[in-house]
Amino acid sequence: MLPAPPPRRILDVVARRAGIESGELRANKLDRESRHLFVETLKGLAVEIDGTLGFDQAEVTAGGLALSHVDRGTMRVKGFENLYACGEILDLAGPIGGFNFQAAFATAELAARDAVRG
Ligand SMILES: Cc1cc2nc3c(=O)[nH]c(=O)nc-3n(C[C@H](O)[C@H](O)[C@H](O)COP(=O)(O)OP(=O)(O)OC[C@H]3O[C@@H](n4cnc5c(N)ncnc54)[C@H](O)[C@@H]3O)c2cc1C
Repeated sequence: MLPAPPPRRILDVVARRAGIESGELRANKLDRESRHLFVETLKGLAVEIDGTLGFDQAEVTAGGLALSHVDRGTMRVKGFENLYACGEILDLAGPIGGFNFQAAFATAELAARDAVRG
């Protein structure tokens, strides 16, 4: 599988640093030298992280109940009668883009179906 391309906003910054007008930012519009300069600038891009926005604004949190403690077909917590775990409480984090919602919905559905079956 090909890696996802970097976000457009990052590519625009790289282009500016490489002295390329953003309107020219198509591989087939760049000459060989500019393409090389663009790639080298991208590879050398250093991103300094100077902090986070804090837990209140966190969009993805990792950690939680280890998946090995949960039956994946029913979301029952192993060793506990009628206890289910789903969604964010699980040690399950995907990249931003709907994967966390999907994980929450899918695990909740599994738990609900099993709970209804009894
Ligand atoms: C700002 C932000 C943006 C996000 N954007 C995305 C995104 O774009 N795509 C994506 O996939 N994921 C996104 N996420 C992550 C996603 O929202 C979560 O993974 C998902 O909502 C988890 O679902 P959940 O049902 O497990 O938990 P939650 O959605 O947190 O639901 C838990 C519920 O339980 C309630 N609750 C808590 N304690 C109690 C209690 N004692 N009694 C009764 N109720 C209680 C809470 O009020 C809450 O309603 C985002 C998260 C944040 C914070």
